[in-house]
Amino acid sequence: MVSALKYKYRNIGFKLTPQRIAILDYLEGNTGHPSAEDIYNAVAKKFPTMSLATVYTTMGALREKGNVLELKVDPDKKRYDPNTAKHNHVICISCKRIFDIPAAGSIDLPDSLTGVFSVLESYVEVRGLCLECQTVNAKK
Ligand code: ZN
Ligand code: MN
Repeated sequence: MVSALKYKYRNIGFKLTPQRIAILDYLEGNTGHPSAEDIYNAVAKKFPTMSLATVYTTMGALREKGNVLELKVDPDKKRYDPNTAKHNHVICISCKRIFDIPAAGSIDLPDSLTGVFSVLESYVEVRGLCLECQTVNAKK
């Protein structure tokens, strides 16, 4: 597992310390869209001496190399996504959980902008309440 991660990130441009490998391991296949604090809390269990700054610098380097997406879908804090393939997100405004939704087709521009504006990227963000939060709110 560790050797596979070392191979995958062999060109990442920073030293693969045990702490950083633990961060990479936590992110591998992670669909929970963790914040820096989430990553820190998970990895600090194993490496109590690790700092939040290490998480931030590691995530910054991963983002620069295109290994992770920085999401702004949660207005309270940056969230990270190791799935860099094109896809969209739905966020529960109550518990702030973020779920993946498949990429839709391109968004059609109105006639007035067709041929005037060239679309470089488009992204759909859906806000709502997850089933659990709907249930909690209904009980209130
Ligand atoms: Zn929720
Ligand atoms: Mn995602």
